[in-house]
Amino acid sequence: METGKKVVIVGGGIAGLSAGIYALKAGYQAEIYEKNAVPGGECMGWNRKGYHIDNCIHWLTGTDPDTKLWQVWKTVGAIDENTEYANTSRFYTSRLGDKEVTLWNNLEKTQEELIKAAPEDEAEIRKFIEYVGYAKACVIPSEKPLDMMGIKDYISMGKDMADFPKVMKEYGKINIKDYSQKFKSPVMRKLMTDYLPADYTTYSLLVSYATMVCGNGNIPLKGSLAMSLRIASRFKEMGGILHLNTPVNRIVIEGKKAVGIELEDGTNIAADAVITACDVDFLFGRLISRDYMPKALKKAYENRNGYPITSGFQVAYAIDSDFSGEDTIFFDCEPLQIGSNEFSRMSVKSYAYDKSFAPEGKTVLQANIVQSDSDYQFWESLSKEEYSAKKAHFAEKVTKRIIREFPELEGKIELLDCWTPLTYNRYCNAYHGSYMGFVTTVGNKQMRFKGVVKGVDDLYIAGQWVMSPGGLPIAVVSGKFAVQRILKREKRSIDI
Ligand SMILES: Cc1cc2nc3c(=O)[nH]c(=O)nc-3n(C[C@H](O)[C@H](O)[C@H](O)COP(=O)(O)OP(=O)(O)OC[C@H]3O[C@@H](n4cnc5c(N)ncnc54)[C@H](O)[C@@H]3O)c2cc1C
Repeated sequence: METGKKVVIVGGGIAGLSAGIYALKAGYQAEIYEKNAVPGGECMGWNRKGYHIDNCIHWLTGTDPDTKLWQVWKTVGAIDENTEYANTSRFYTSRLGDKEVTLWNNLEKTQEELIKAAPEDEAEIRKFIEYVGYAKACVIPSEKPLDMMGIKDYISMGKDMADFPKVMKEYGKINIKDYSQKFKSPVMRKLMTDYLPADYTTYSLLVSYATMVCGNGNIPLKGSLAMSLRIASRFKEMGGILHLNTPVNRIVIEGKKAVGIELEDGTNIAADAVITACDVDFLFGRLISRDYMPKALKKAYENRNGYPITSGFQVAYAIDSDFSGEDTIFFDCEPLQIGSNEFSRMSVKSYAYDKSFAPEGKTVLQANIVQSDSDYQFWESLSKEEYSAKKAHFAEKVTKRIIREFPELEGKIELLDCWTPLTYNRYCNAYHGSYMGFVTTVGNKQMRFKGVVKGVDDLYIAGQWVMSPGGLPIAVVSGKFAVQRILKREKRSIDI
């Protein structure tokens, strides 16, 4: 149904593109304004020296066609029945000395191997595996926002998630670092702390692993940028207008109503409704006054220890061999001081699972050193010259550590690129360079807020920050939810 009304969207990442597609589905005209030359935001990849650096999807939640989230991904054109996925068989491997343990996609195989490697932890391992099984029941609400759900919806969600409260009871009030201490074996402790930051609540690890185990977290072949471009094409094919290289300067508010946006070049664009789908720290402060910020968000920004963020110092390499198949491997390294923090553990991930990323017989390898708020401050404190020099300096140190761990790479490893939390801030205006939403730490409420702005009508918020932990599924459903909020305000059906 054509309404003749226009929805303007700020940001062409996954949330913005999704909002655009659902706005068109609901009969609105839709225009997206994106500051970068390429859509996709943090769901991104780029080419260097004949290689493709894929920089997002480690797993895409919602690849199981029996889930409601799959339907959303299909609607936006990200995946469908014919999508081909990487043939991966493991989540990751942790090494310590001569010991190595792996979380395989097959739970029985994992249990057997872990018990063999750490018989002293058999009881704790069995419990971990049992609860990963329960964690498969974790569902991301995809039909409508939680506050629009009725009693029937809650009953149905309760049924779907029947086993999940068990996981929350056991693993919802302990952080990963404390949880790892339940294991006696040093390599098991590493396995538990390697993947997610130590202050995350433990259930996040179980849910992430469970998503892979149950086949609902695959990696679409051709990578993250290709997926973003598929979604952008769907938006344009449906009649949406995507303005690239067009940064937005502010939301125009008249009285108590958002009436459009002002572009950085001063042009005013009128709209019946505005959806912002960019970082919310940028929204409240740059696009509109910080006075409008919801209380919960304000508290999170003031409590940096309670609501930390995640970013990375990342280095990509071309490897002149078919290196190690599909592995993400964590290992001890000689301590590396970056700013005020010292790192003695790092990981490499081989992208050999996708042949389109490298010439035949060669592979892309990436290293990631997880970065936090304080690391961001270090990078930010540097002058332009110091920043470039430090990046090169640390990349070289990382390379040396990789060669020490994998001597077979000597003479076969070439630096392609390296980037820092500052890169995410420059590229996407991401708060402290975060590529996920706020981390939920023990004792703090999970961050979640309604995608509306109190005191401003016709302004809606999409994007991964509306619900922790963020990530692609939250981004894609938040775009749909923003449009449903418009429909509800217009007293129309929210079934889209
Ligand atoms: C290394 C890495 C690995 C990841 N792995 C996974 C994973 O395995 N699974 C998963 O689910 N998620 C993963 N993520 C997270 C995922 O990429 C993000 O959660 C998601 O892409 C966020 O989408 P978004 O649309 O909410 O925000 P963004 O992608 O940040 O989009 C916001 C958009 O707004 C634009 N913008 C900002 N300011 C303006 C302005 N003034 N005017 C116009 N446009 C503006 C930005 O350029 C950007 O395009 C990963 C991210 C990274 C970087």
